[in-house]
Amino acid sequence: MNFIVASPTGLCFGVRRAIERLEAALKEYGTVYALGSPIHNPQEVARLAGQGLKLVQSASEVPGGSVAFVRAHGLSRVEMREIECRARVVIDGTCPFVRTAHERAEALAGEGYLVMILGDSNHPEVRGILGHIDGKSIVISGADDIDERARYPRVGVLSQTTQKESSLAEALAKLVFVTGEIKVYNTICRATIERQESIRKLAADVDGVVVIGGRNSANTRKLVEIAESEGVSVLWIEHSGELDRGWMRGKNAIGVAAGGSTPDWLINELTQLLQTL
Ligand code: SF4
Repeated sequence: MNFIVASPTGLCFGVRRAIERLEAALKEYGTVYALGSPIHNPQEVARLAGQGLKLVQSASEVPGGSVAFVRAHGLSRVEMREIECRARVVIDGTCPFVRTAHERAEALAGEGYLVMILGDSNHPEVRGILGHIDGKSIVISGADDIDERARYPRVGVLSQTTQKESSLAEALAKLVFVTGEIKVYNTICRATIERQESIRKLAADVDGVVVIGGRNSANTRKLVEIAESEGVSVLWIEHSGELDRGWMRGKNAIGVAAGGSTPDWLINELTQLLQTL
C-alpha cells in the first residue's frame, strides 16, 4: 500500500504563526489567557492547556495583570482596547491578512462607503472586521442577500478571508445593478482554497482518503465533503489512534489530507503509522 500526502495541507500561515507566538508566550510566562479557542483542534488545545493555556469567552474575563493572547481571527477595536487595559502583556496573533481586512474596512468607512462584507455574520473574524468600522455596514452571506429593489449609492466591498472567489464574483455581478459606485478589496486568502484544490486533485489518484482534523473544524469538514463529492471513500479521524485498518483493507493507494487547523505533530504521527503498515 502506498500513501500520498496532499500538498499543501494542514496549518495555514496565519494559524501557524499565531500558535508559534502562543507557545513562545507559554514558555516565557507560564499562564496565558486566550480569548476564544486559538485553534479548532481539540488535541492541540489540550496540548497547549498542558503548557498553561486558559480559555476565556470574552474580554471582560481576562484577569487584570495577566498575559492575554489574541488568535488569528483578530478582534474588534473595543475588545482589543479592553484586553490591553486588563492584561499586562498582550500577544497579538492576528493574521496579517485579517489585519489587512480591518484596515480596508476602516478605510472604506472613512471614505464614506457603505461597507459590505461577504461572510458569516456570526464568525469571529467578521465580528472583528465589523468592530473596525465607524459608519454603516452590512454583512451578506452571498448574492442572494442583495436586495434587487434597494439602491446603494456608494458601496465598499470586502470579504471574510475564507470565502470563495466565485461567491464574491456573484455578489459583485448583482451589485452593479443596484449601485452607483463600487469599490472592491479582494481580501480572500488563498490558503483555504489551495487546500481544497489539493484534496480534489489527490482524490483522483487514490482509492481512499484519510482526512485528519478536529470534528469541530469547519474547514476539515469541507475537505471531507470535497473528497466525497469526487466519489472516493473517506475516513475522517482526529488522531492516528482512530485509523481503521478494516477501512484500509484492499486499498492500494491512500491519500492523506489535513484541515487548516491540524498541527504538524498529528499529521506526522499518522504518516509514521502508515509507514509501518
Ligand atoms: S486562512 Fe488565511 S487569513 Fe485565515 S488565518 Fe490562515 S492565512 Fe490567515
